Amino acid sequence: MDFSAPKFSGLAVYTPGEQPKDKRYLKLNTNESPFPLSPRAQEALKRDDLADLRLYSDPESTELTAALAAHYGLCSDQVLVTNGSDEALAFAFLIFCQNKVRYPAISYGFYRSFASLARIEACEVELKEDFSIDPADYFDSDCPVVIANPNAPTGLALPRCAIEEILRRNPGQIVVIDEAYVDFGAESAVPLIARYPNLVVVGTFSKSRSLAGGRIGFALSSKDNIDALKRIKYSFNPYNVNRMSAIVAKAAVEDDAYFRACCAAVAATRERTKTALIERGFGVTDSKANFLFAAHPAIDGETLYLELKKRGVLVRFLKGERLRPYVRVSVGSDADMERFLAEVDAITASCPCLSAQNHV
Ligand SMILES: *Cc1c(COP(=O)(O)O)cnc(C)c1O
Repeated sequence: MDFSAPKFSGLAVYTPGEQPKDKRYLKLNTNESPFPLSPRAQEALKRDDLADLRLYSDPESTELTAALAAHYGLCSDQVLVTNGSDEALAFAFLIFCQNKVRYPAISYGFYRSFASLARIEACEVELKEDFSIDPADYFDSDCPVVIANPNAPTGLALPRCAIEEILRRNPGQIVVIDEAYVDFGAESAVPLIARYPNLVVVGTFSKSRSLAGGRIGFALSSKDNIDALKRIKYSFNPYNVNRMSAIVAKAAVEDDAYFRACCAAVAATRERTKTALIERGFGVTDSKANFLFAAHPAIDGETLYLELKKRGVLVRFLKGERLRPYVRVSVGSDADMERFLAEVDAITASCPCLSAQNHV
């Protein structure tokens, strides 16, 4: 017997990247950091903090909010801390979208889920032939716009001036820029917040701050927009951020040197891996994120994904006509990527059609 309300029968539920338990895998499928949480952040959590879990968390996450405001050069009332950036995005879809939202047809899969939960029409805009976003497709929009920059799973980034043009051409519409991957080499839109009241920037600690399991995200915008987001938060879950994660995340923001070193290491490993894949005949986009989006001319994405999985390496294969040739590979440590490349070589060597092609 299904007791669920019929109005939710059409929910476009999101499928998270697999977290299999059958054996130990090299996980290059969900864009987590290969580096541990900042040692200073690990030390920030005291035994007493665990005892304090009997108390509710601070509904305003005051200290973490102040640390983020200082980091981004904003006021505390321009920052909302959330349970992962997925929650910030959910709040934004609910409070800013009346009946429609516009976002790229190939992007973060969760946008479709948020739109369906908010019961609004999803206007999905095709990418250009080279997988890039054409900013002009978002000018004079009749509804809020959501863009991941860098985009996923392509890794391609728009320059800040292109984001600014989208903002300038939509004075009456909210533009959400999802900067989950911005720290690995793209230009952030945060400096535009002071001049564009329609801009909401969403960020996360899950990728560049090694805190995916801590579930910390945030929204940055004008005080008015943050107040609007808080109306959803206080209608849903006032204690959305737990005490432990807030303590650890504040220390992580303050350990800027460690953060920068980790981001730089990931970016350097990404570029080396990209070169190695191109040498092996792959087509690889110019990713500014902590993953690579790559296709081999002789092996489709799903086959490569399955072969790698057999060999203990997990990458992400995404469904969709244009995505079929591709896999998305998270950038791990140098050793992780050597292992990945070695398995790719073993797969291409063991397939007669592929090794034949390698010799032409
Ligand atoms: C990973 C990701 C998020 C969500 O991250 P959280 O773990 O919920 O903070 C949001 N947007 C994009 C594009 C992502 O890839």
